[in-house]
Amino acid sequence: MVISAKMSKLGTETAFDVLARAAALSEGGMDVINLGIGQPDFPTPNNIVQAGIQALKDGHHGYTASNGIPALREAVAADIYKYRNVEVSPGNIMIMPGGKVTMSFAIEMFGEKGAEILYPNPGFPIYESMIRYSGATPVPIALLEENGFSFDADHVLSLITEKTRLIILNTPANPTGGVVEQAELAKLANGLKNFPHVYILSDEIYSRMTYDGLEHCSLLSFPEICDRLIVLDGWSKTYAMTGWRLGWGLWPEHLIPYVNRLCVNYHSCVNAAAQYAGIAALTGDQSPVDEMMAAFNERRLLIHDRLNQMAGVSCIMPKGAFYAFANIKETGLTSKKMQDQLLENEGVATIAGTSFGADGEGYIRFSYANSLDNINRAMDRMDALTRKLLG
Ligand code: PLP
Repeated sequence: MVISAKMSKLGTETAFDVLARAAALSEGGMDVINLGIGQPDFPTPNNIVQAGIQALKDGHHGYTASNGIPALREAVAADIYKYRNVEVSPGNIMIMPGGKVTMSFAIEMFGEKGAEILYPNPGFPIYESMIRYSGATPVPIALLEENGFSFDADHVLSLITEKTRLIILNTPANPTGGVVEQAELAKLANGLKNFPHVYILSDEIYSRMTYDGLEHCSLLSFPEICDRLIVLDGWSKTYAMTGWRLGWGLWPEHLIPYVNRLCVNYHSCVNAAAQYAGIAALTGDQSPVDEMMAAFNERRLLIHDRLNQMAGVSCIMPKGAFYAFANIKETGLTSKKMQDQLLENEGVATIAGTSFGADGEGYIRFSYANSLDNINRAMDRMDALTRKLLG
């Protein structure tokens, strides 16, 4: 068998491996607490589920337009106006099977041998995986704990060369829970005026998930870069719809024909009933989102408190998403060893910081999408482990 060389460049998302291992350990009788996978532990709100069922009953069983049904694209444009205060045309919105596909398409569109793509490190692992797969060179933007896992705009601008084609940004961020401040984004947008050959992919999948009254700042707020800005968002996290596979991308007009062609080649269109459910999500009652966020906030405060009481462990306060990125350097274990010991010996699924890039060494990601009780039990187990490690 001869398969293409680029297959060996494709990375993975460790969260799915840990999920499978945690399931195997549970089946073998172990009481496993899952703080690994990044998905809300709430069901999709009922009005959304009912809309999906109704769409099936109404006979929406066939293909739709490859860019999505018009009513859904209009609802997304209205949602962008509501939450980002920017008017966009529904014609620039592409409905996707999840948030991930927008990033893969953007990377595929700009990445090839000789090109450079900037991406956050630690960051969502698929960025680096897809950049390598495309043949481009991944150029990490180091996100440091001392900067609140944000970046310095001048540093990002200093990484740009004539080979740079795309910069990937993600705020609020996975895996750190970090949020980039509006002033830093404004500085970056302003600096990018000097590099008109560079496009920007802004991954805003956690846009509705911020805490302490902090407002999400979209890259769309900066008109000077909007003609080369791709925004990624979707339903997975905000509406607890990870399994429905529904997301959207907002693209500059001149790129729409290329994205459309990628859609037709890869997936034709998105599941029709899921698209109708997506309309109900955006136009219906938003109180389930508020309730979910209130629950996440309580868990955030608990896990932050518990981690900081643990010997050899510290954690800065996450400002968005539902992740805590704890510093475990003083325990003496590598991230991978900590992940393995927590899972195999203590029955706590977490993700090693290195699964999000080399700069994640010394950290562990906790998804606090689990009950307060389970978070407390997981923290008790990790506390016992760190006590053992530090004698
Ligand atoms: N972007 C980030 C930063 C994520 O953390 C995730 C999922 O964890 C995605 C995109 C992908 O979302 P989806 O499940 O909608 O493809």
